[in-house]
Amino acid sequence: MNYAQWLEFAKERLVQNQSLDPFLNPKSDSLLLLEFVTKRNRASILAFSDDRLTEFELTQLTELLEKRCQQQPMAYILGEKSFWTLNLKVSPCTLIPRADTEILVEQALKIIKERLKYPQNLVQQEFAILDLGTGTGAIALSLASELEDIAEQHKFNLRIVGVDFLLEAVELARSNAIRHNLNKVEFIQSDWFNEINDHYDMIVANPPYIDENDEHLTQGDVQFEPKTALVSAEEGYSDLKHIIKIAPQYLKPQGVLLLEHGWQQANKVRSFFTKNQWQHVMTIKDYSGNDRVTIGQKNEK
Ligand code: GLN
Repeated sequence: MNYAQWLEFAKERLVQNQSLDPFLNPKSDSLLLLEFVTKRNRASILAFSDDRLTEFELTQLTELLEKRCQQQPMAYILGEKSFWTLNLKVSPCTLIPRADTEILVEQALKIIKERLKYPQNLVQQEFAILDLGTGTGAIALSLASELEDIAEQHKFNLRIVGVDFLLEAVELARSNAIRHNLNKVEFIQSDWFNEINDHYDMIVANPPYIDENDEHLTQGDVQFEPKTALVSAEEGYSDLKHIIKIAPQYLKPQGVLLLEHGWQQANKVRSFFTKNQWQHVMTIKDYSGNDRVTIGQKNEK
């Protein structure tokens, strides 16, 4: 069988299964699988579509296509997912990084660059960031990739700590740091703040925030992701509330918290911030125009 024939066959198989899962994308999913197995890029596959698959490649492809027909997420099948400028290893023990979260990285960088205009304000020439529930390490590593050079130029010490309650996630995040040669990031196992006993300039988190009865949990990729990374008690607000309440204890003066939440949760989340005396509370929309991240600054009084 050659590349073109396999693509036709795979597309057909995926179309048959599309009624079960409207998130299947026959054309792009089959191309991605072929790229992955042949280790060739899209352009080369399309240019040499008469090339024949080896017996081994065909066996692998059959297996992967079957997984996709059973609706398994592409990111888990391929074992990787792009986020920000990084290609990250993923595994079913963590959430698959989403483009929605990139706005959090963008805002965090904006705030940090603003702070660096007045480096004399940095406590002990250090900027420290804590990423709670880091999963693949997506947020912590994206920030590290942007900030490591800046820290060197501006001569301040950059310290980024990512925590996850799951050891498997911590190990995955560590391997992603090695993969991208980012060495200002440390990953440790901690249930939220439990193992933390120092202070940060910034805390970031994409905690679980979905209500357990939300039908979104039974659709597409989400049904294969760990519930611990998605679902939170009190209609999805329990972990958001906990972090908003406790974070000030772990922030330096002027420290900021950036918290991702559901697009319909902004009003309530802002009210938790203000009830806990945070200042300058504001919500930012993601690239799809949905309220996604709320930011607050620690109150010094
Ligand atoms: N935004 C994700 C979703 O809707 C959920 C991520 C999370 O709970 N932290 O699938």
